[in-house]
Amino acid sequence: MKTLISSDVRLLANLIQEGKVVVFPTETVYGIGASTKNEVACLRVYEIKGRPKDNPLIAHFHSIEEIEKVCVLGELGRKLLEKYAPGPLTLILPKKDKFLFPKELDTLAVRIPKNPVIREWIKLSGGAISAPSANLSGRPSLTKLADVVRYFDGKVDGILIAEEPSYGIESTVVSLVGEHPALLRPGSIESKELKIILPELVFPNPFETLPVESVSHVPLSPGTKYKHYAPSAQVLLVSTDEFVQSLKAGFDPKATAWIGFSLSSNEEKGKVLSERKDVLSKEGEGSLEFDHFSFVSTNEEYTSKLYAFFEACDLAKVQTIICETPKPGKGWEGLINRLEKASLRK
Ligand code: AMP
Ligand code: MG
Repeated sequence: MKTLISSDVRLLANLIQEGKVVVFPTETVYGIGASTKNEVACLRVYEIKGRPKDNPLIAHFHSIEEIEKVCVLGELGRKLLEKYAPGPLTLILPKKDKFLFPKELDTLAVRIPKNPVIREWIKLSGGAISAPSANLSGRPSLTKLADVVRYFDGKVDGILIAEEPSYGIESTVVSLVGEHPALLRPGSIESKELKIILPELVFPNPFETLPVESVSHVPLSPGTKYKHYAPSAQVLLVSTDEFVQSLKAGFDPKATAWIGFSLSSNEEKGKVLSERKDVLSKEGEGSLEFDHFSFVSTNEEYTSKLYAFFEACDLAKVQTIICETPKPGKGWEGLINRLEKASLRK
């Protein structure tokens, strides 16, 4: 299949109108989308991703008014969208238009992406685009155009070139259809903020929603039913002390990669790291295109770099990725969730 790779929103909107599948960037991660009004096209998205059929798609809109045409917004839904849309918040709402995908559900997940170019494209495409994250099911979502092209060129009808994702993890998902508002998936908009509008917010899946204060060091996560957001390499989620120890010794530096907080935060870390870099360069690995170390200063920066680092590690055939536990506070909730999921043993 020939894939049209272009920044021309009109051309890419025509593809959606014709029932085709297009990969596009949002502020969270890349999405793989089809018209919400076209069931056959939406089902192709599942085939291309290898996504289980019982996992519904998020419908992406360009305005609150468009959402209101097809869903019951309610007072809470309106307040949340007025505060957070456009942005990385998905709401599960009662559906008014039962012909929208997925037809068998009476609820719809809705979101308005932040980038105005993407909203313009959605508008030109007919008003709603159903899209999960653009990745093969189970793997980390993609945040770099080069990775998207590597996976999807030849498999989808179009790839829209626009500003790359900056948040780096999937949207926060809040359900407004049950007895109480529920946080179904943590993300960059955090429960503490949401509780201002939703004091009754509940956390139906404890694994998804460890309370922020409760964990200072998270060892390998307990097993759960699904592997998710995981690279091929084994992910180890460790404390700062363990992170420094792992840099010092015990791991083959060529088969291992590290992502964590910057050297200035820890003198010992800086010393150890320069020693490890020496080892790599002495062994002729210093000019490798792949950098085994990714150092960040904030949880937000960690989040935005995480999935691209996972992809780079898999491309470089790294076997173990050692991840320093995030800092308590802002940006912790979504990041710890994705790190825990990625670190589940296969
Ligand atoms: P993804 O787009 O792959 O990041 O995943 C979309 C997320 O939204 C998944 O966790 C879905 O289960 C969830 N979702 C989508 N539609 C619904 C819905 N109608 N009810 C509950 N969850 C939904
Ligand atoms: Mg996904």
